[in-house]
Amino acid sequence: METSFVIAKFGGTSVADYSAMVNSANIVIANPNVKVVVLSASAGITNLLVALAEGRDAEVRAQHIAKIQSIQYNILENLPENQTLRAEIDQIIANIASLSEAASLATSAALTDELVSHGEIMSSKLFVEILREKQKNAMWFDVRKVMRTDDNFGKAQPKIDEIKQLCCAHLKSLNGNALIVTQGFIGSEASGKTTTLGRGGSDYTAALLGEALNASQIDIWTDVAGIYTTDPRITPTAKRIDEISFAEAAEMATFGAKVLHPATLVPAVRSNIPVFVGSSKAPEEGGTIVYNTHSIESNLPSFRALALRRKQTLVTLTSLNMLHAQGFLANVFTILAKHNISVDLVTTSEVSIALTIDTTGTNTNGGSLLTKELFDELSGLCHVDVEEDLALIAIIGNQLTSTKGIAKEVFGALDDYIIRLCCYGASTHNLCLLARSHDAESIIKILHKTIFE
Ligand code: ASP
Ligand code: MG
Repeated sequence: METSFVIAKFGGTSVADYSAMVNSANIVIANPNVKVVVLSASAGITNLLVALAEGRDAEVRAQHIAKIQSIQYNILENLPENQTLRAEIDQIIANIASLSEAASLATSAALTDELVSHGEIMSSKLFVEILREKQKNAMWFDVRKVMRTDDNFGKAQPKIDEIKQLCCAHLKSLNGNALIVTQGFIGSEASGKTTTLGRGGSDYTAALLGEALNASQIDIWTDVAGIYTTDPRITPTAKRIDEISFAEAAEMATFGAKVLHPATLVPAVRSNIPVFVGSSKAPEEGGTIVYNTHSIESNLPSFRALALRRKQTLVTLTSLNMLHAQGFLANVFTILAKHNISVDLVTTSEVSIALTIDTTGTNTNGGSLLTKELFDELSGLCHVDVEEDLALIAIIGNQLTSTKGIAKEVFGALDDYIIRLCCYGASTHNLCLLARSHDAESIIKILHKTIFE
């Protein structure tokens, strides 16, 4: 394809209502290199659809459907001439109603994906009309024709090679003058059933299409103007980072900076496609470019960003059997894996292991991840201590393990705080501290001041 071929993705808040859609449409129109647009559902819609898919009684269903209808009608009302579009949206809402009724009788993962896919279908239909109102030649494209996945409904894995082939067959030939408007998040398995890539999956769609179509850039338009040195709500002096390497951004994404999801980056890194992140409400503010760099690593700054991750639990396992023993760690991790526990940080001493578990996303029934069964099983192996109310502070940068004075600069600023645990050395891009929850914001503030201001 062309040398300058941009895929632009707009998140839920960027297509939330008519004025958000108009801002997003203006961004697309202003950049003639944008050839494919990937959209999320209008903000709020996916949550309502997920609730419907869980099976609700008739009254709640009616309320949810009314909310969905009002969000989409608010946009439609600004396109009053368009009777065909209104009929299409009404038909989609009627489908939602009958699928929701089916879900109230028996839920299934496949039904859930079919139901939630309607959010992206509606936002993309509406967006095409807004572009056409602005005299932009745009065509609606059903991404399920090309986004082939496995049948793991709810979190389907994309089939990279098939997606590439399908894109060549169905999308490349369309690259006439019309701008292609399609859906994020949704796909289809081999027999044609609708699948989804997991919540927040639209960024991933954009990166997968970017890879398959050999895009020269992927633009992610959201409600923040890029990636910041830290959360500006904690530190108002946080600065926007204009350029950041994939390696650094991946460490940030892992540690709770919500701007980009780490999985999103994988196809872009693999194919060396720069990713731009900006705010669709304020495109003039610019944004952050995430790019691939090997060559100029030594010119990158030692410190780049600070990320905070709350609700950490520290588990310390102690056993004298660990002295000269083999396989102790393997036993511990086997137990953790059996209980589906993912571990973030690990440190060891001669006779103990300390691990942190992220409890932000507790399990689906809202209970603690650290169940009594898990605790009992670990206790059979060693002594177990659990500490809660901790927070993880990640310092992200470059060459952290080969630069003098890094530890002094970081710890020197933290005289007044208790640092419960520290992880340093696994990556040259990351130094992690575990501290008490109530100290976390002050630590971020003081570190930001010391290393960035
Ligand atoms: N609409 C989907 C969600 O809310 C996908 C996305 O927004 O990326 O999860
Ligand atoms: Mg979203």
